[in-house]
Amino acid sequence: MRHPDPINRLINELTKLPGVGPKTAQRLAYHLVYRPAGDVAALAAALVEAKEKMKYCSVCFNLTDVDPCVICSDRTRDKTILCVVEDPRDVVAIEKVKVFRGLYHVLHGAISPMEGRGPETLRIKELLTRLKAPEVVEVILATSTDIEGEATAMYLTRLLKESGIKITRLARGLPVGTELEYADEVTLTRALEGRREY
Ligand SMILES: [Zn+2]
Repeated sequence: MRHPDPINRLINELTKLPGVGPKTAQRLAYHLVYRPAGDVAALAAALVEAKEKMKYCSVCFNLTDVDPCVICSDRTRDKTILCVVEDPRDVVAIEKVKVFRGLYHVLHGAISPMEGRGPETLRIKELLTRLKAPEVVEVILATSTDIEGEATAMYLTRLLKESGIKITRLARGLPVGTELEYADEVTLTRALEGRREY
């Protein structure tokens, strides 16, 4: 059966989302059409607002609606420790466990020779600029434990070797290949507290 054109267009847009196949898109599309008009309008407005208002923090490159972000502008945070992560979702995961009081730096990805993603595609230059500030004494490399995350951590370690800044890596306990955002809170707390010099 052919769907009416508006439904087809909706399905077409939904299938562009990660993890949404044709079947799920079809289910969602019909579900949305059955929802009250107010709910659908709120969803549409939320989509547009999120896209319009979210930007990168000019300091840490986390996603934010205010610049600098709330973490960078929080005077109670410890400016001597920078936690380097791949993705804004990693910041959310670490913030949730409430054991880290330092600042972040979001790379927006990891080095991947396989996919042709070199260090120049990440926010590494900006990280190096931040590390020139004399107050930074430790950098926690919280990139993931998969090949790309390890390659990125190794690359950064080589770059920072001469800087005199202490380089640490999250403790094992995070299963290999685990993305931070999926780690449970106990594991993440242990990984942070048990971090070791790299
Ligand atoms: Zn920030």
